[in-house]
Amino acid sequence: MEIVIATGNPHKVEEIRAIFSGLAPGVELLGLGDLGAAFHEPHEHGATFEANAGIKALGYAAQTGRWCLADDSGLEVDALQGRPGVISSHYCTGGREEGMTRAQRDEANNALVLSQLSGVAGEQRGARFVCVMALAKPGEIIARSRGTFEGRIGVPPRVPAGANGFGYDPLFLVAPGFERTGAELTSEEKNRASHRARAAEEMARKVRLLARS
Ligand code: IMP
Repeated sequence: MEIVIATGNPHKVEEIRAIFSGLAPGVELLGLGDLGAAFHEPHEHGATFEANAGIKALGYAAQTGRWCLADDSGLEVDALQGRPGVISSHYCTGGREEGMTRAQRDEANNALVLSQLSGVAGEQRGARFVCVMALAKPGEIIARSRGTFEGRIGVPPRVPAGANGFGYDPLFLVAPGFERTGAELTSEEKNRASHRARAAEEMARKVRLLARS
């Protein structure tokens, strides 16, 4: 069985490959770059992570004619009624893509979340990263999976802190101890516990069953 990991991010391809090699051996995972053609990224206009992962998986399956695995992820903050949610990567511009670099966006997104939480006490700052994966063949979703990574948004000046990771990691104190931010974990520690790892593990188990049937 061959599955195309529908992301332009080589780091995600490697992370998903490592998890699949343990849980779904024999399933060959390709990156979009391995197909030797250019593809356009489907527009993520869904209101949920599930919808967006499905849009991407179906969009790439239609373009490649193959089984494609896609993911969508983001941060949900309880005191912000689940925002930033599906617009996590462009939260500072209300979801619009406005010619900023990723580093500029990350900094502005983090500043916005901290300002929206100012005055909210530590234990009221519960949050989680969510990752949803969808596997599709042309015209049909075959499987979905979901992983979460629980924590809290820290209170300045404790956060932002840490030099690893990306996005909201410098704000995110990891449960259950709330001692370190996501950006203070090593990449190995984060990859073991993360929302993406959990979603990929569940998907690998489902793919193993599909490969047998
Ligand atoms: P995407 O699914 O790669 O498009 O990620 C969506 C956005 O959610 C990212 O741009 C980050 O802002 C945020 N995000 C997702 N996963 C993480 C994480 O592991 N750490 C920090 N931020 C994350």
